[in-house]
Amino acid sequence: MEPNTILVVILVITVISYLFDQLLDYINLRSQRTEIPREIEAFYEKDKYLKSLAYHRELARFSFVTSAFSFLLSLAMLLSGGFGWLDGLLRPYFDNVILLALVFFAVLVVASDILTIPFQWYSTFVIEEKYGFNKTTLKTFVADKLKGYLLTAVVGGVLMSALIHLIHTIGPTFWIWFSVLAAVFVLFVNMFYTSLILPLFNKLTPLQDGDLKTAIEKFALKVDFPLDNIFVIDGSKRSKKANAFFSGIGKKKKIVLYDTLIENHTTDELVAVLAHEVGHFKKKHVIWGYVLSILQIVFTLFVLSRMAYSENVSLALGGSQLAIHLNLLAFGILFSPISGITGLFMNMYSRRNEYEADAYAKETFDGTALSNALKRLSVDSLSDLYPHPLYVFFHYSHPPLLRRLAALSGVAVQ
Ligand SMILES: [Zn+2]
Repeated sequence: MEPNTILVVILVITVISYLFDQLLDYINLRSQRTEIPREIEAFYEKDKYLKSLAYHRELARFSFVTSAFSFLLSLAMLLSGGFGWLDGLLRPYFDNVILLALVFFAVLVVASDILTIPFQWYSTFVIEEKYGFNKTTLKTFVADKLKGYLLTAVVGGVLMSALIHLIHTIGPTFWIWFSVLAAVFVLFVNMFYTSLILPLFNKLTPLQDGDLKTAIEKFALKVDFPLDNIFVIDGSKRSKKANAFFSGIGKKKKIVLYDTLIENHTTDELVAVLAHEVGHFKKKHVIWGYVLSILQIVFTLFVLSRMAYSENVSLALGGSQLAIHLNLLAFGILFSPISGITGLFMNMYSRRNEYEADAYAKETFDGTALSNALKRLSVDSLSDLYPHPLYVFFHYSHPPLLRRLAALSGVAVQ
């Protein structure tokens, strides 16, 4: 394909995916309803619910602005050949292709982050603040930014260097080698997330002896789920939103509970939430999730290997010669419709797993306790009660609350 044709294809994909996303957001916003469903009436206060609707409207409006901004920015960069211009600007200073690529991406990442800081700021300190979620202080905000940069520089730098190195030295079969590397990396992150990455951002303390710990250990013993340790994380440092998860690849698992979750739920509800998570392990969702994400990486790299060496792709972005980093960027844009489709299947699979994990919690512990926990979580996070089915189909990794409640109470779900 000629460089101009490639540029047109890139532009068309950018415009279509932008319009499609906006359309979905719009449809979803239109499906809001002001009445509270009977199942959760007892948990919601009317004014709280109206507040949650307002929160969603405001988030949606804000996202219209931010996505229009990034869309116009990418369009301007593509039409003006800005990416090629940056490549030409940096090239004389770097003999090493890896170094050139790293600096190229670093400039893009930092520049786009600086341009969007006002939006991130507004979202945290104005919107989230207004609806009572925000607990982030200015200090946490700045520290998170710096740590985020550092983490991206180290992890992104290592992976990007390895990728560029393999593309240059091995040739078109680089995708096999990099797939192996990526698989090891994903496994590594899964294994050490709780012990290495999480402590960079949060404080983890072992759960103290008491009713909750006894109840969790009793349940773990009953379903034969070996526990390594139970941690409490200071999620309240940033937000009132709550969560819980497991980590560890080996036989014994670590549990991480948000302090915000413990604060707002009864012991039974907390055990029910953990029972749901145990369900994900017992039903092999975790292993399959890992396998599927590896397959996705392998497929992506294979497609990348078909276009990594095309000089015309670099020229399409305004470059003057073949540059692997320009091609990686173009690939990122061209691949987005394909990754949208694989993401769609991953979401379908994930939603199915959520029902299974809920059913497991009901079977082994208590469906009512889980229902109550889900309602409370939904109230506290002001989650959308009537998302449009089309929006759910494309974007939701978890089924909407009302569907999950219906499934838990035994009503058939298609
Ligand atoms: Zn789940």
